[in-house]
Amino acid sequence: MKRIGIFGGTFDPVHNGHLIMAENVKDQMHLDEVMFIPSRIPPLKDIDNVSDAAHRVNMLKLAIAGNDAFTYSDVELNMPGTEPNYTVKTLLKLRDEYSRYEVKFYLIIGMDQLINLHKWKDPGKLFLLSEVIIINRPGYLIQQVENEYSRQGIFVPVPNIDISATDIRFRINEKRSIKYLVPQAVENYIYENNLYK
Ligand code: ATP
Repeated sequence: MKRIGIFGGTFDPVHNGHLIMAENVKDQMHLDEVMFIPSRIPPLKDIDNVSDAAHRVNMLKLAIAGNDAFTYSDVELNMPGTEPNYTVKTLLKLRDEYSRYEVKFYLIIGMDQLINLHKWKDPGKLFLLSEVIIINRPGYLIQQVENEYSRQGIFVPVPNIDISATDIRFRINEKRSIKYLVPQAVENYIYENNLYK
């Protein structure tokens, strides 16, 4: 049985917080693969402020190159229609795609997502379609974010890495350093393409 981690996000840009947490979850949950899935229109984010999918994908590919267990999927970017894509739909699509294989999906979400889970589409179904992995994020304590869903998920402790894409975009705008917050290749890409100015 292949164990596949599903890691969705805006990845605008992907940063070392994402990579460190994904590697730790892979290690602790004995996953064979962690699939990074950039979202087309993040349902709970302001669409106008999200970079082009092409840039987010290019940065993601640069970031995961060199880790054989990290893969990229365009399943959400390629969803038909214009409405936001929902994780439950993604899981159903992946279940179909992998129906001929023995796989188990592990949906990885941060605590910042856990507190919003009731706003997601069909949150209860996520737990039927996958094992939900909840990971810590600086600023959130498990006692504070406990809800009806936290008890159904598996809490996997990872090192607290206080990096966010919002902070990276802010730093660039302020002409401050982002060195070591993102892989070097991603940093180069951001400057070469004048992103987040
Ligand atoms: P933004 O600041 O733009 O909201 P972000 O840094 O939170 O972006 P996303 O692409 O929205 O990045 O995050 C995707 C997933 O990664 C979410 O489940 C989020 O909880 C998790 N995540 C992001 N950064 C970290 C981090 N530093 N530590 C642990 N989990 C993280």
